[in-house]
Parts: sequence; C-alpha cells; structure tokens
Amino acid sequence: MTERVDVAIVGGGMVGGTLAAALAEAGLSVALVDRADPAEQLEQAYDGRTVAIAHATHRLLQATGLWTRLVPHAEPILDIRVTDGPSLLFLHYDHRELGEDPLGYIVENRAIRRSLFARLGGLETLRFRAPAALARHIAMPAGVTLTLADGNEIDAALLVAADGSDSALRRAAGIASAQWDYGQTAIVCTMAHEKPHRGIAHERFLPAGPFAVLPMTDDPVHGHRSSIVWTEKKALAPAMLALPEADFSFELHRRFGPWLGEVRVAGGRWSYPLRFAHAETYVKPRFALVGDAAHTMHPIAGQGLNIGLRDVAALAEVLVDAKRLGLDIGSAAVLERYQRWRRFDNQVLLGVTDTLNRLFSNDLAPLRLVRDLGMAAVNRLGPLKHFFMRHAMGTVGDLPRLLRGEAL
Ligand SMILES: Cc1cc2nc3c(=O)[nH]c(=O)nc-3n(C[C@H](O)[C@H](O)[C@H](O)COP(=O)(O)OP(=O)(O)OC[C@H]3O[C@@H](n4cnc5c(N)ncnc54)[C@H](O)[C@@H]3O)c2cc1C
Repeated sequence: MTERVDVAIVGGGMVGGTLAAALAEAGLSVALVDRADPAEQLEQAYDGRTVAIAHATHRLLQATGLWTRLVPHAEPILDIRVTDGPSLLFLHYDHRELGEDPLGYIVENRAIRRSLFARLGGLETLRFRAPAALARHIAMPAGVTLTLADGNEIDAALLVAADGSDSALRRAAGIASAQWDYGQTAIVCTMAHEKPHRGIAHERFLPAGPFAVLPMTDDPVHGHRSSIVWTEKKALAPAMLALPEADFSFELHRRFGPWLGEVRVAGGRWSYPLRFAHAETYVKPRFALVGDAAHTMHPIAGQGLNIGLRDVAALAEVLVDAKRLGLDIGSAAVLERYQRWRRFDNQVLLGVTDTLNRLFSNDLAPLRLVRDLGMAAVNRLGPLKHFFMRHAMGTVGDLPRLLRGEAL
C-alpha cells in the first residue's frame, strides 16, 4: 500500500507529534511514524521528567488544541529563585513584576504525551503509525518515498526528522553536528513534601551542576509534589541512583535544605546523560530537522522542548503559507525560510546555555565571585532582569503565529 501525503514526520515525540497536529489542523495531509508503542510511552517507567513550559509555548499548546487536557496537570510557576551554593547573593524572578501571567507551567512529560496521542487520533488528515519501523527512505527531485518494515510505503513532498537527539535521519542525510558530552548526568525523580511549594521553582548551583526543584500539581496519593532535576558528575551518578531510599532522600534534603519540610521520593528514579549538539544545517531539499534532532541542550535553563516547539511553530507557518500559495513545500526556497527563522536564534540560546553551565558547574573561587556578583547585579537592575524574564517566557523576538496564540 502506498499513502500519498504532504508531509511525512519520523519521530512522534512531543516535538514531532505537535508538528503533526498543527499541520493536520491546518488541512495538510500528514503521516507520522514512531518506532515506540504509544501505550509504552505512557507508562510511568518510560519518562519520569517534567518540563517547564514557557509562557509562549503555553499559547502554542492552546492554539494546537493540546492545552485543554493539560490544565489539570499544569502547575503555574509564580516565582523562580536562583542561588549559588551557600552564597547569600541570589536572583529572584517574581511573575508579578511583569503582570498577572505566570512565568510558565510545570507539566509531566507523560501528561503531554497523553494529550498529544488523544489529539492525534481526532485529526482527519493525519495518520499516526506506531509502533512502526522505517526500513529505508529515498529522496528524489519530485518527492521522498519512505518504506516501512511492514512493506507499506509513504510518498511525501517533505520528510521531517523529529527523531530525537541521536537522529538516525540526520546522519543518513549527511548533516554534521557539533557535539560534546558534559560529563554530567541528570538524576530525575518526584519528591513528595510536607509544606506547599507556593509555585516557587528553585535552582541551586552546586559544584557538580544545577539542582532544580520544580513545583508540580498536588496528587491525591502523594500530596504536595515537586520534580527534582539533580545534575551530578557522570562518574558519581550510578552510586547516587543506587542508594537505599532513606539515603537518597537524605542526599536530596542535604542539597536544598528544610524549606519544604519532611520529604520523601514518590515513585522511581531516572537518569539522562547530558550533552550538547547542534546540526550545521536544518534543511536539505525535501528534508528538515526539528527539535532535539536539530539541537540538544543542557537542561540548566529548561529550554530544550521550548525551542523545539518554536521550531514547530516556525516550520508549520512556513509550510502552511507555502501550501496556500500553491508552492512546493519541499523546495529549498521554502525550507530556507524556516532555517533563517530558527537556526541563528537557537545558536544564540545554545551558546548562552552552554556558557552558563560551564560558569556555574564548578567550585572555583574567582568564578564564584564573578557569577554571584553578576546574579546580584541582574537582580537589582529592573530593566535587565525583565529582559531575561521575557526571554525565559519566550515572548521576545519575531514570533510565529502559533506562539502568539493565533491559528495557522
Ligand atoms: C533532565 C532533562 C530535563 C529537561 N527539562 C526541560 C524543561 O524543563 N523544559 C524544556 O523545554 N526542555 C527540557 N528538556 C529537554 C526536552 O526534554 C527535549 O528537548 C524534548 O524531549 C525533545 O523532544 P523531541 O520530540 O525532539 O525528541 P524525543 O523526545 O527524543 O522524541 C523522539 C521520538 O522519535 C522516536 N524515534 C527515534 N528514532 C526513530 C526512528 N528511527 N524511527 C521512528 N521513530 C523514532 C522516538 O521513539 C521518540 O518518540 C529536558 C531534558 C532533560 C534531559
């Protein structure tokens, strides 16, 4: 069987799935392929992370019909407090400085996938094939043909790779990527605590890397909850992950202090190796990269998915506009517009994030002094602080329609 579509997307994660929903909603025909079984992706063990959804990303999720199902699972971030180890200097972002909107929301990745899969099932021009393995694909001047392991074929005007950080499609397209390992592992878990978090996200810089406590919605079983992203040296992480329950909770408590009262780990522990990667180009004729397939960043600023969804908003707008004008959506000219819109912006944010991690993940006294004075200065300089807050909220720059909350 051969299916003919406008766009074939390989990788039905949070980025590829959202792109598929946005394009199908605007009337393009889409085939979305993922190798993982959706039921498996919704299991607790698959992904223990939460994600900090920036204010602009929240608008995109509303515009693509994904937010309604997320409302009960989204905890508003009202305050962000940044501290450096034992230093008394700090940086404090209070959402009221910019108005009534929260700075963002903390949502479990599992809740986003649940909302996404429900949405994908309700779109007429979209076919979601998962689990399905891609056997091969061939790009020709007039289109791309994908052959799945079950023998079915998909003909598309454009192939989008949303297959994550270790993108096989990026490699197959011969696109090089600048990449390095941080020698750090993110240990992730959910922590139940005695006192309410009051919407405060806390990031504390420790010599091994940032330690983040992110406010989650209350839960009928565990009560008050926060998500922990604990960056540890790669060599030490396995020993920390293997600690007995009481010792693990003690290590958590030791790192962020008594402000949430008694704490205990609720559920499992997960670990993620941390690396940097940025593809040298996002497009080739009939081919585009989005999300982690194009760029992978340190979670220090909680921006990886946010910029992946910015790619989605820009690419969807470029493709929908081109289709309405009767242009070839896989042509180099159309895809270049997407690349111009996104790659430089991402390069800047990737650079800033990389520098922040290098500046803060150490215990060198001169660097500590510089960064602590820098944080205190930003905290006191209103305009500069508000500039950083708007950046973190994703409301700065040439925003595509979806990020302004408008329909395509
Ligand atoms: C500890 C940690 C905390 C984070 N916190 C934040 C945060 O607070 N805010 C934020 O914005 N970002 C955060 N991020 C980053 C965010 O998680 C990623 O940017 C995001 O998950 C990338 O989504 P994606 O869909 O591009 O890739 P993935 O989630 O990797 O999805 C790729 C999909 O492609 C499929 N796939 C792969 N290969 C194939 C193939 N050959 N054929 C078919 N399907 C395939 C996979 O099954 C998967 O479904 C964090 C990351 C980490 C590690």
